[in-house]
Amino acid sequence: MGDCKYCGKSAGFLRKEHKECEAAYERGREMIRESCLEAALYGIGIDQLPDRVRAIAASAYIDSSAASVAQSLAAGWGQAVEAAMEDHFLSNEEKRALNRYRAQHNLGAGQLNRGGHFSLFRMMSLLNALSEQGLVPRFERRGLRLPFNLMKSEEMLWLFDGVDYLEEVTQREFRGGSLGVSFRVAKGVYLRPSAFRGRPVASTSIQHTDSGVLGITTKHIYFKGQRKSFRVRLEKIISFDPYQDGLGIMRDTARAKPEMFRMDATDAWFLLNIIDAVMSMDAIKLPKAGAPTLDDLVDQDLV
Ligand SMILES: [Zn+2]
Repeated sequence: MGDCKYCGKSAGFLRKEHKECEAAYERGREMIRESCLEAALYGIGIDQLPDRVRAIAASAYIDSSAASVAQSLAAGWGQAVEAAMEDHFLSNEEKRALNRYRAQHNLGAGQLNRGGHFSLFRMMSLLNALSEQGLVPRFERRGLRLPFNLMKSEEMLWLFDGVDYLEEVTQREFRGGSLGVSFRVAKGVYLRPSAFRGRPVASTSIQHTDSGVLGITTKHIYFKGQRKSFRVRLEKIISFDPYQDGLGIMRDTARAKPEMFRMDATDAWFLLNIIDAVMSMDAIKLPKAGAPTLDDLVDQDLV
């Protein structure tokens, strides 16, 4: 006879749980998730949230200790950030609600970043500043020397580390390679066939030629690797191709070939959205000395 891992009573021969107990547990977890999400995104029931989470937990065989409740609240905030990311957007209201939630429940950045959600919130706060508030945050160097020589008329927005740079190279010795199928570029990277369509190239492949740092400013993409450094003006890029783990670009020149920055999927998503936000701004006002940094803006409406 086995005991139910939820209620502790006998569950019958070779059984580890009662179906009803397991269902109650799952229902409880879902209710906690929903309560946290509503509070974090819309402020609904935020004052009673800890009590509510504790009560749901206690009735659903979930640990209802203070530590466990705090953990659920932090996890709920992370899920809310992800939910806000679903529409690739963080509205001012959502940002305020998320800030109120973390202040009210005393959740620190470290605790909220266990699943990387605080970093994601910083990213989304940058997009919010650019697209919702028309604000360019002052880039905080933190003693860091930028590997790029910026123009006076631009501001650094974000630096991505460990970015692979890939270029298309034509390999004449392998003529006649088939097009129109997915090109396996490298481990984990699939270039869309449409990136090649309509181009009379006998055989193409895209090669990893350098690795380094990518910077995005209000005007350019900068790249600094071991062998190559360059900047591309955003307006001189005619197409952006988002891939599973990278961003492809095509420059506006007659001899342009596909280029790609390979980076993690979230970074690629973020980079493309920064570009989109910057290029949609009517007039870019550069921040003056003492203007708010991104971290100031992240905490702006913290109560
Ligand atoms: Zn049971």
